[in-house]
Amino acid sequence: MTVSLKTLVNRSIRNMGEVHPVVKDRAVTMIERAYKKGILAQISDGLRTYAEQQALYDKGRTAPGNIVTYAQPGYSYHNFGLAVDFFLVSDDGKRALWTVNKDWKQVAAIGKEIGFEWGGDWSPFKDFPHLQLTGGLSLSDLRAGKKPIFAVQTSYSPPEDDGLLEKGENGTAIKRLQEQLLDMGYRLPKYGANGDFGAETETVVKAFQKDRGIKVDGIVGPVTRQELKEAAKPVLPDETYWVKTPLFCGNGVRAVQGALAANNPPFYPEKGARNNGIDGYYGPKTADAVERFQSYFNLKEDGIYGPNTRKKLLQVLK
Ligand SMILES: [Zn+2]
Repeated sequence: MTVSLKTLVNRSIRNMGEVHPVVKDRAVTMIERAYKKGILAQISDGLRTYAEQQALYDKGRTAPGNIVTYAQPGYSYHNFGLAVDFFLVSDDGKRALWTVNKDWKQVAAIGKEIGFEWGGDWSPFKDFPHLQLTGGLSLSDLRAGKKPIFAVQTSYSPPEDDGLLEKGENGTAIKRLQEQLLDMGYRLPKYGANGDFGAETETVVKAFQKDRGIKVDGIVGPVTRQELKEAAKPVLPDETYWVKTPLFCGNGVRAVQGALAANNPPFYPEKGARNNGIDGYYGPKTADAVERFQSYFNLKEDGIYGPNTRKKLLQVLK
């Protein structure tokens, strides 16, 4: 039996650690696309702390073993969560295959297509498993504390946009669909955004289609996709929100929370909570998300949603 895509993705996410969300997203996209072509790839490594990099650098120098890296701490994109390493996996998912063959190069090609720089293109020291996103920053920029900014989901082609999403499929495209439907107020009470297109998701897709006045078939094809895009267009309130008693609440706040969460990287009011904390209340956690957003984009960090934050949100979401 062939190992499932879900297994490969889950293992990869675990191995990557806390890499930049854009790196994570694209690495998963790469694994999905490779899987569709019948190639089983997985990520072995992602974020490497300075201490981990030092331990690796010591190998073959002050510690036993062979030399495995030429990079000291702060001299690898791994140290900033901007690189991942991949390898191929046997059909049963149990063995790692390290031979750089046609399949390996195909995975690298997919990675490059979605914006990664591949270590296999380097000379003279090739690093075949290595993929990195620099965000236009050099390592010395990163050591100085500069933060990469990636355009929101537009800098790379979306995963096969003309394909149909329907019952029985799974993967991050389904998860994104489910998250969007949840953001719009549809409910997936039993399974949530689990990445599986089951009966529950089909029911919600049908409800969405009915609401938009398009053909109700429970399949996400071009027309439904267009409607989803329209529905996702950010409409942000012209108001000012801050934490007060009682809290501001309602659809305006929900729109702000949704926009923060839809960002890349996402600024969830409360990651991991129900619907990632998107609840329509402007409380301390939402103010904190606003503050993180402001900090990321060099705005005044006051946790208050006002004209400047609104303008920046619209700008990065377009
Ligand atoms: Zn690497």
